Amino acid sequence: MQKSDATDLGFDPDALREKYRIERDKRLRADGNTQYRQVEGDFSHYVDDPYIDAVIDREPLRDEVDVLIIGGGFGGLITGARLREAGVQNLRIIEKGGDFGGTWYWNRYPGAACDTESYIYLPLLEELDFVPKEKYTHAPEILQHCHNIGEKYDLYRCACFQTQVTGLEWDEVAARWIVHTNRDDAMRARFVIMNNGPLSRPKLPGIDGIETYKGHTFHTSRWDYQYTGGGPDGDLSGLADKRVAIIGTGATAVQCVPHVGASARQLYVFQRTPSSIDVRANRPTDPTWAASLEPGWQRKRMENFNTLCSGGIVEEDLVHDGWTEIIRNLISMANYRGKDTDWSKVPELMELADFQKMEQIRARVDTLVEDTATAEALKPYYRQFCKRPCFHDAYLQTFNLDNVDLIDTAGQGVERITEKGVVANGVEYPVDCIIFATGFEVGTEYTRRAGYDLIGKGGLKLSDKWADGMRTFHGLHTRGFPNLFVMSNSQAAFTTNFPHAMDEAAHHICYIINQALSGNIATIEASQEAEDAWVEEIITLARYNEEYLASCTPGYYNNEGKPNPKSIQNGAYGKGSNPYFRIVNAWREEGSMQGLEIN
Ligand code: NDP
Repeated sequence: MQKSDATDLGFDPDALREKYRIERDKRLRADGNTQYRQVEGDFSHYVDDPYIDAVIDREPLRDEVDVLIIGGGFGGLITGARLREAGVQNLRIIEKGGDFGGTWYWNRYPGAACDTESYIYLPLLEELDFVPKEKYTHAPEILQHCHNIGEKYDLYRCACFQTQVTGLEWDEVAARWIVHTNRDDAMRARFVIMNNGPLSRPKLPGIDGIETYKGHTFHTSRWDYQYTGGGPDGDLSGLADKRVAIIGTGATAVQCVPHVGASARQLYVFQRTPSSIDVRANRPTDPTWAASLEPGWQRKRMENFNTLCSGGIVEEDLVHDGWTEIIRNLISMANYRGKDTDWSKVPELMELADFQKMEQIRARVDTLVEDTATAEALKPYYRQFCKRPCFHDAYLQTFNLDNVDLIDTAGQGVERITEKGVVANGVEYPVDCIIFATGFEVGTEYTRRAGYDLIGKGGLKLSDKWADGMRTFHGLHTRGFPNLFVMSNSQAAFTTNFPHAMDEAAHHICYIINQALSGNIATIEASQEAEDAWVEEIITLARYNEEYLASCTPGYYNNEGKPNPKSIQNGAYGKGSNPYFRIVNAWREEGSMQGLEIN
């Protein structure tokens, strides 16, 4: 980079690259992804369901259905809806919570809201003739929408709530799955679709002494309103005389900190790595705009957003928000270089656009946070997509309140928890309550996160088959486990707008199940060749991303700073979501179910 270029840009890319490296190195830990404490044994109360009034009493089920879906979140609901549209009646959805909603059932913390635009994020809006109240709507409306999908598609009739799958077994003679649960069920199903959710198992930090704390504690995904008072809009009156610690500063903390800060007597926010906090600019839905929407509008908007976020070019940026801005930056950066842009330089331009965006985010901290040392500590020094970008217009200002302190740990994290409180930087902070905003397991074994293992053909266990990394065809089928579909972003499409990818997967699965149900097909199973070829392609494409991931600050996107062959193999399809959608669409159009063995 020439000096004049650095001056034109307003920053020095080499200096920033070095600063990012130093900040990352501070955070690299030998224990990587094993640092966290699993929520089990003495800690299992952290995942108790605080939202149910009573435990449903029912007899164990031993009956048979055509299709059994595990998980009643967005993925299960969308798939259930698409199956209903395709005429599948004999359906069951198993859900461990007390109702539909998944992520939005569990995450009811104050301030929870989507930060992908609600008009593209909430599934099936046109089908339900509904437009959300706000551009980034709040959690209660999203949860209500989940319930409405359940009603509209008659999915309550086939739901088993408060039921946790404990194991799946393939009955080779009958060509059926036997599904065991914590309710002593042994249901049978021709097809099983696993929708366990990517962020469903809460984790606790690996902090010494966590079990010795005598005050009140809970995880953000099981918010204890009985203790805090108030509700999803805040007004947490129960905290008025309480000293509260929040550990973690990820996307969840960013949304709940302003509410806790507004209500608690004292709030300490313990930070290991700051999030990037961009403008949110939420606003109520314009009713005139909502009334003007033409049929097909939601699909068009979803595709527009996804094309932009995949680096494609569209005439108009319909969503026009922080997610699409990075792409607009790139395009303007390319123009800055002149019309004859050399596209082999795109990675470098991407990095410049990213530096530019993050400089803007860091400058925003200075404009909103009064104390200069606090402002400096809140500045993120890494590339924007190393961690989940956040968008909020009140979080940073919360640190101007007299009763709120940021306890920055310079990347080292909380040192210890004592009977009385939290120790960081050698100082003990006595508190009445610790709220763990420490996220969810990612990168641990699939069967661990799911909470059950599968026994497929010939006694093959899924945990054994995937011990060295997932092996799938299209991310959806895995050999040795016939009539089973995995819905996740591993070896499949990853997109910022997750429900979009789920809908594409749901259409694909419905197509295959329909072929089977209408064509007298007993089993479908990935062929060895198709699976090997798909895994090979995933690994080959992932190599292009390896350097970037390794340069990132630790987090769940890069296996806590230690990307390895297994975490890379478990990643998404490397060319992006739109190319993935084109592959599976073309596969359906071709019509011969290539890569699947059919009996
Ligand atoms: P995250 O995993 O993103 O954040 C966990 C936080 O805990 C991090 O700040 C982490 O620090 C911190 N932490 C972990 N261990 C320690 C320790 N020993 N000492 C101090 N701090 C520690 O979890 P979230 O629940 O915030 O978010 C999870 C995901 O859920 C998001 O990435 C997003 O995908 C989704 N989400 C989406 C929302 C939306 O759409 N609106 C809202 C909320 C969440 P460090 O960064 O250093 O690891």
